[in-house]
Formats: sequence, C-alpha cells, structure tokens
Amino acid sequence: MAMARRLLALSLMLCAGLVLSTLIPLPANRLRPEPVVSLRILDRDGVLLREVLSDAGGRCRWVTLDDVSPFLVQATIAAEDRFFYFHRGVDGLSMLRAAWQNLRRGQVVSGASTISQQVVRNIYPGRRTVWTKLVQTWLAFRLERTLSKNGILVQYLNRISYGNQAFGIEAAARLYFDKPAAQLSLAESAFLAAIPRSPSVLNPFRSLPPLERKQKEIIRRMAGLGLVTRGQARRALDERLQLASRAEKFRAPHFCDYILSLIPEEKRPGLAAVVTTLDGALQEKLEAMLRRYLDAVRGRGISNGALVVLDNRTGEVRSLVGSRDYFDEKDGGQVNGALALRQPGSALKPFTYALALEHGLTAGSMIEDAAFQSGTGDGAYVPQNYDRKFHGPMSLRSALACSYNVPAVALLDAVGPDLLLRRLWALGFSSLSRSPGYYGVGLTLGNGEVRLLELAGAYSALARAGLCRPVQPVLEWQTTSGEVIRPEASAAVAVFSPQVAYLITDILADRDARVPSFGYTTSLSFPFPVAAKTGTSKDFRDNWTVGFTPDWTVGIWVGNFSGRPMHNVSGITGAGPLFRDIMLLLNRGQTVNGFAEPDGISRVSVCPQSGMVPGEACPGAVREVFLRGTEPEAICSLHRGLKSGPAAPSLPAGRKSSFRVSFPLDGDIFRLDPVLRPEHQRILLKAAVPEGVDPETIEWWINGRKAGKTAHPYSMFWILRPGSFTITAAAVRDGKRIQSAPVRIVVLT
Ligand SMILES: [Zn+2]
Repeated sequence: MAMARRLLALSLMLCAGLVLSTLIPLPANRLRPEPVVSLRILDRDGVLLREVLSDAGGRCRWVTLDDVSPFLVQATIAAEDRFFYFHRGVDGLSMLRAAWQNLRRGQVVSGASTISQQVVRNIYPGRRTVWTKLVQTWLAFRLERTLSKNGILVQYLNRISYGNQAFGIEAAARLYFDKPAAQLSLAESAFLAAIPRSPSVLNPFRSLPPLERKQKEIIRRMAGLGLVTRGQARRALDERLQLASRAEKFRAPHFCDYILSLIPEEKRPGLAAVVTTLDGALQEKLEAMLRRYLDAVRGRGISNGALVVLDNRTGEVRSLVGSRDYFDEKDGGQVNGALALRQPGSALKPFTYALALEHGLTAGSMIEDAAFQSGTGDGAYVPQNYDRKFHGPMSLRSALACSYNVPAVALLDAVGPDLLLRRLWALGFSSLSRSPGYYGVGLTLGNGEVRLLELAGAYSALARAGLCRPVQPVLEWQTTSGEVIRPEASAAVAVFSPQVAYLITDILADRDARVPSFGYTTSLSFPFPVAAKTGTSKDFRDNWTVGFTPDWTVGIWVGNFSGRPMHNVSGITGAGPLFRDIMLLLNRGQTVNGFAEPDGISRVSVCPQSGMVPGEACPGAVREVFLRGTEPEAICSLHRGLKSGPAAPSLPAGRKSSFRVSFPLDGDIFRLDPVLRPEHQRILLKAAVPEGVDPETIEWWINGRKAGKTAHPYSMFWILRPGSFTITAAAVRDGKRIQSAPVRIVVLT
C-alpha cells in the first residue's frame, strides 16, 4: 500500500516536472540569427558563375517581419499551420489524427507539424522517429515560452529551405523572382510558401505544374480563411509569374556543383568566394556547341554528352560541361557526365602500349592480330576486334592507331593487368577501385568504369611528357575574414618517361597509321598536330574522343545516361566531329607547335613487313621512331634470299568460289613475340567452303602431316613455331575428298 502511494507520488512529480520543464526557455544562442554568408563562385576572370545565396550554415540576409511582404506571412500560415496564432506550439487535433495514422501504419508517415515544430526541427535536427518527434514536441512548447508568435515566424522564414540551396525567404525571393522578399505579390507569395513542404519535388527550376497547383490551392485557402478578399484571390489566380532566368542563376551548373562538392561541410560558413579556373566565355561557347551537336546527331540515338577542357601546363579545368541541359529531366540532365562512371572502351589502350614500350617492344615491333585466348582472370577470354576480323601481323604502331583489340589484350596479358592498374591509379583513375583480378586483361578494352575528367587528366600527362598533375579546378579561396588561400600546387609525378610518352603521342598523332581501320576520316585530321584516341563501350552506350595538343587536352563523351545503345556510332562519327570543332576553336589564330621531342629519340628506316633493318629484297622502307638503343640491328631475315617480296602472290582466278584455306593467306609471315607466352601465340586456321560442297569434316595438313580434323565451322587453333610451313585443307564427304591449294607461311623468331 505504502509502495503504491509512493509510486503514485513519484509519477505525479514526474508529470509536474515535465509540464514545468516546458516553461524553460530555449537557450538564446540557438535562436540567434545565423551569420550572413553567401558563397560566390567566380570564373578565372572574376565573373560570377553562381551565388549560393546561403547554405546550411549561412543566410542571404536575416530579415524581420517588416522586410517580408504580408502576403507571404499569410500564405505561409495558410499553407503550413492555419491555427498558428491559436495553439501553444502543438496543434492537438491534427497531432492526434497524425498519431492515429502513424500507429496504424507502424511508422511516421504524417507530419502535421506546426510552424513552431518545424522551427524546432530545424534547430534540433534528428532522425524521424517517434521518440525524436516527442522530444521535438516538448521543445516546441518551450519555444512558445521563449519567443512571441511573430518571433517564431521570423525564425521560420529565415531558416526554412526553399530548395536549390536557398535557405530563408530573402534568398528564395531573390533566387526565384529577382526581388527582395518585401516586394512579393500575393501570387508570388503563395508560390514560394508552397515550396518548403517538399523542396525537391516542388522545384520551380525543374517542373512548374505541381507547384502551380499547390500555389492556387493556397490562394483559395487564403480567401477561405478571410486572409485576402475574393477579388485579390481572383486577380492572383490570373497573374502570370515572371520567374528569374535559371540559366543566369546557374552558369556552368555542373562545374559549380563539382566545386561545391569539393568544400567540406565545416569549411562552408567561413568561405566568401571561390575563384575557379573556369574560362566563363569559353564555357558558354562550348555549352552551345555541345547542344547544337547533340541536336544534329539525335537521330543516331545519342541523347547526351559531356566535355572537359584542360590547360596542360597547369592542369587547370578551363571548361566542364556535364550534360546537354542541367534542368532536363527526361534525358538525365542532372547527371554530371564529366564525373559519371562509364566504360571507356578503347580509350585506355595507349597506357597498355606505353607499358609494352617500357618492356622492350618498339613502335616497329611486329605483333600478331590473330585469334588469341587469354588465360588471365576466371575463364578463358577471347577478344574480338571491332570489325570481327583478324588482321595478321602488324606493327605496334598500327595496332594502337587502328585500335585493334586482340593485340592490346595480348600485350596486357604479357605485362600483366596489375601493372597497368597500378599505373592507372598513378594517373589519377581513382574510380578503378577493384582488384587487378576483377578486371583482368579486359581492363585495356575498358571493362572498368572511369570518369571523363580522370581520362582527360591522364591524357594531359602524356602531353606533359609523362608528368601527372592532378586536375586543378580552383585558383583561390576567399574567406569571410578577407583571407586568400591558394591551393597548394601539387607536385607533378613522372608516370611515364618523356621518351615513352613522346612515342605514344607520336602514334596517337599519326593520321596515316589509323587509315586501315578508320579510313581517311576528316574528323580527326587537323592542320596542326593533335594526338587523339577514340573509344566505344562494348554495349554502344558510351562513345569517347580524348586528345591533346601541346597546350590543351580535350575529352568528350557522348551517349545515353539511360543506357540505351546508340546506333551506327564509332568514336570517329560519335564524339569525333565535336572534338574537332573544339580543338579548332581552342587553337584558332594561334600557331600550334609540334610535340616537343625529348632527348633519347631516334628515327631509322625499317622494313615495313618485319620491322627489321631493310635489305635489298625488302619491299621498301618506312621511317620509324625509336627509344634510342632499341633500334633494330639485324638485316631483315624475312626477305633474305627471296627474289620478290612475299606480300602479294598472284591470286588464282575464281578463288572466291573455290574451296580454300582462308586464313592464313599464302605468303603470310608471323613473328613470334619474345614477350608473350608461347601457348598464346597461335593462329586460327580457317577454311572457306563454297555453297554446295558442305563437307562433314575438314582435315588440316601441315608440312605433309595431318594436324587435325574439324567439323563445322571447320576452324582450328594451331600454335606457332619457327619455320616454314605449307598448310592444306581437305574437305571430306561421303568418302570423297577435295583438296585446297597449299598456303605457305613463314614463322620468324
Ligand atoms: Zn624485309
């Protein structure tokens, strides 16, 4: 009995304590006006790109009720809390209704917060749980004890978010209507008062209809509550709103977002301005060029694009366009294509070739473009060329310039994906965050996802003779106390030797070398030296062109954020023409020097078919560029003792329709690669079978011995070994045999 009495007394005391505790005022420092800070993002010449009127830490201007149109105050009350002047912090009736709904669904679904509760939530943020809700209710009672009703309104109007980084009504009025909050009309007031409920959905810069519906609802409610006359409401409903131009408020939008993302949250309040590296005038031109270009190629299924321009000397970002239209919802315009993770296709190949050069191969080394199977990673990997053909032996120069897949994979298999991955990290590809085993040799074909900005940064290292320098978007930070902080120039790191970088550059700038694969295209030919590479992801969603002159690096991506494939697009028809236009624009009216040749480079003549020192029997000679000390020394062994070149044996007439060996061809020469493992150096023997022959099997004969028997599609791998070989195929059907003409090949070491 005594126990029960004591418990009752204790509960009564607790209740009284709780009630009394709501009389404790909130600490004054919590309610102090926030410091007035707006962050200005400027281009390199000091031209304003965006004024972030406020952020979580600052306000455009702390206003009093005298600074705010009375319509806005009434509209806010009508929209958020019609009994604001009558309750004591909590609207009991709607609170009960909300609690009932929440109970039924087992979660907090309905807010029913009063203006006082929203102010409390802003000052004491917390996760949306029932417990926080209870604490916030208790704090709302205390807020009402601390401030007058108008004082609470002032807190609300200065703290609440109106979307697009505008906190507070003054920031919102200036952002959306280019006027102070004092001059807002009834229609404008209702429009703004609708936003805080759901700033991301009711965003004036994205979609107007849902917001306009809400605005009209608020105007009608104001009339219903007698806050405005019917006549005022009617006129406001007919008023056409003049929204401020979002393009002017959001210049270089993705670039500014990127700059904001670089600022740690705790540093924001102290910052007054950021002077960026962006060239505002160039940016505007390139935004327009990208738009025009995408309009022109829309029929090919390309809906979006992004571009980056870097100043090679400093690594400064001079232009960054993230999408066709920042405000476009349909094609993912908010996605920043310069920072989005996408598959680069062939655009990483030059770095594989740079490693091969470091391992002793030369630009003139003959490498085999033939069927090749890699054992790296899990399962066998059989690369395919873009044109699904194999092209026989070719120089390393041609293999890179023509962007064939098979040689690139073979080279990476030899040097190892882990080495390439470590080098790509050194070049700034932080987005390739998986292990070497995850990517395997497919890394050189672009199976890892990278950012356009990273790609451009890596290419600019080639332009800087192998020196990698992090991309630089900021010239200086200006603090609110007037201090100017310049970002420390990060040290350049030598990722490739100047000679290797020069050789890769020379190949990427070699117009003639890409002809076999791309033809005499105009989109990558310039009146001055440009090194460039294209890439297309294997599902045709991404298309890239990246390249540089000594001064500029330009990276372009076109494709679809939606993942829809493009059609009939290669690097040269996709991003290529835009790349060309931008390079021409950047270098207009300037003399563009060639790429500076470092010491340790030599040029000698070689046999075009063997890459060796040309002899008398060779079919001519070509100049090739070498790292000094890697030039060939031996006279061409391929053409030694042959009266005429082996390259063009006359073809028997009617060959097309006869049964024959279709690969290799008579006179083909293969060269064993000293780097590759022998089991990877094999070719796929293929037979062409005319209609009507239809054999059950084909026998393969090499130097008079049966090497194997194959059924449809009749092809067979054969591991190369040094020597001369005569290959014939025999088609067998119903015991009858048809013999092909012999094919003679030479395999060199
Ligand atoms: Zn020769």
